[in-house]
Formats: sequence, structure tokens, C-alpha cells
Amino acid sequence: MTLRIDVFTIFPDVVEHFAGASLLGRARSAGRLDVRVHDLRATTADVHRSVDDAPFGGGPGMVLMAEPLFGAVEAVEPPRPLYLLGPGGRRLDQAMARDLAGSAGFSLLCGRYEGIDERVRAHLVDDELSIGDYVLAGGEVAAMVVLEVVGRLVPGVMGNQASAGEESFSDGLLEYAQYTRPACFRSWDVPAVLRSGDHARIARWRRASALVRTLRNRPDLIEARGGLTAEERALVESLDPEALGS
Ligand code: SAM
Repeated sequence: MTLRIDVFTIFPDVVEHFAGASLLGRARSAGRLDVRVHDLRATTADVHRSVDDAPFGGGPGMVLMAEPLFGAVEAVEPPRPLYLLGPGGRRLDQAMARDLAGSAGFSLLCGRYEGIDERVRAHLVDDELSIGDYVLAGGEVAAMVVLEVVGRLVPGVMGNQASAGEESFSDGLLEYAQYTRPACFRSWDVPAVLRSGDHARIARWRRASALVRTLRNRPDLIEARGGLTAEERALVESLDPEALGS
């Protein structure tokens, strides 16, 4: 199955270049992802190919006009839902990314300047999506975040599919500490258990590492899953917290 994602932007080259590289580029070549990037200026008729104008009521900056945005989207009839990228939208998280990766397709509309004519929000898009509580200069970076976060979860895109199930947020926890060669670097040793070959002990250590790291860095995630179970508390307390990674 191929996941289609359409992106509407005034900087199609930026998004196209990003979507052609690395993991996304390979996913496109392999037919797993069908990313189509569209120029919001596509249906403009004036000599400057204008997409923005001053806000009614005055104030700073420019606003993306309804007409070119409706024109660009209606010329394509892209897969729905069509998400407007904006700081006021629903916050993207791993659970939503998983849902989008398993969907039939969706589309992204990148804002710019001070924002977009409200009639686009009211009558053209289906929902609004934010990548965090801060303000970008435009929706392109946000669209690229969505493309990468969702694209890597599409079945068959990542080399080792198991890794998506073990990484941060997959089960409400941050990922456990990881090490690779050399076993000793500047006198810092890799925990011996990871070199023991005992898979049950390694799994217990990793679980404890994920729990301790989440307790330290994101206690809100532990709270959201109703605290630690008695078994998890015993596991965490049975191991030296200093040896479980930061
Ligand atoms: N004046 C707008 C406001 O206060 O909400 C901000 C406009 S911002 C400078 C320009 C565009 O960047 C937005 O229309 C949106 O497409 C994009 N953008 C900014 N922050 C974003 C965020 N956190 N998530 C997704 N898109 C964002």
C-alpha cells in the first residue's frame, strides 16, 4: 500500500528537496510513499503571482489570500483530511503520527507571513495541526516534520520495523539507554549486562532504564499512564539508577 501526502506551499522546492532525500526519498522510490508538492501560486493570474495582501482592519504583516489557496487546492482535489499547519492546531504526537501513517492519505497546507485568511480555515481545510507551542516563520518546516515523523512509520519504510515499536513514546515511555562499540570509552564502561548475552536480563535492564529515564525527564508521561505498577517499582528499585543511563 502507498501512503499519499500532498503538501501546498509557496516554497515547493524546499519541501520537494527534503522529501527526495534519505529515508523519505527511498520510501518514495520504493513506492511506499507518494508525496506530491504543490505551489500555492499555481493558479495565480497576475504578473507578480501574488498570494498575500494586507489585513483588513490594519496591523502588521501580510495575510495569505483565500483565492489562490482555494484555487491551488481545488485544482488538485488532494486526499483528505487537509490539515492547515498552525500554532493554534491540535498538537502532533506519536499516536497521531501512527494513525496518519495507517491512513489512506492526507494533505498539508503551509501558512506564511502573519497567517491565512480565516475563510480558508473555515471552508477549505478540515483541521489544524501544530508541531509545538512556538511560532515558526512558515508551515514548511512543520510540514517536513510531519512528513518525516509519519513517513518513517509507514510499514516497510524503516529497515528494522521492530525499532519503531521500541523507541520513545511507543508505550508511553522514553527509550532505554543505548550503547555501541567500544565497550570502554575514556574509562566509561558499557553496563556488563548488555554484553552478557542473557536476553531476559537485557530486556529487564532496558525496561528499568526506560522507566528511570522517563521518571527523571518526563514524569508527566508516567503520571499519564497512572504511575508505576508494583512490579515496575520493584524493577526500578532492584537496579542501581546510576547504571541505567541519564
Ligand atoms: N500570526 C500567527 C499566530 O500568531 O498564530 C503565526 C503565523 S506564523 C508567523 C506563519 C505560519 O507558520 C503559520 O501560518 C503556520 O502555517 C506556520 N507555523 C508557525 N508556527 C507553527 C507551529 N507551531 N506548528 C505548525 N505550523 C506553524
